Amino acid sequence: MTGCIFCNIARGISPAKIIYQDDQATAFRDIHPVAPTHILVIPNRHIDSLNELTPEDESLAGHLLNVARQVAQQNGIDQDGYRLIVNTGIDGGQTIFHLHIHVIGGQRMRFPMG
Ligand code: AMP
Ligand code: ZN
Repeated sequence: MTGCIFCNIARGISPAKIIYQDDQATAFRDIHPVAPTHILVIPNRHIDSLNELTPEDESLAGHLLNVARQVAQQNGIDQDGYRLIVNTGIDGGQTIFHLHIHVIGGQRMRFPMG
């Protein structure tokens, strides 16, 4: 989608610290990290949010989770643990309307959420 920052990052048009990319997904460092490790995993194809995911996207959704696991391992946070967040819509706190999974770790997460 033209003008979408995350589409442009996936296409290499906008700068980002990309740490993983394949034909379906891209992972890059969040520009405003909330923890020592903060990575975003996105589908290369534009999908507004989880609300727009269809049954045909089931394997893509699984792939995104698998990439999240992989980058967590590569960044050495898998054993101590980490948190995945998918903010959806305004109440969910979504500010960029291109589906993304936050992978956050490197410190003890605070609780409760919400
Ligand atoms: P959300 O609030 O779930 O939509 O999260 C959007 C995230 O994207 C925030 O954590 C931002 O810091 C991050 N972000 C926004 N623009 C960029 C960018 N150009 N490169 C990397 N991360 C970004
Ligand atoms: Zn997009």
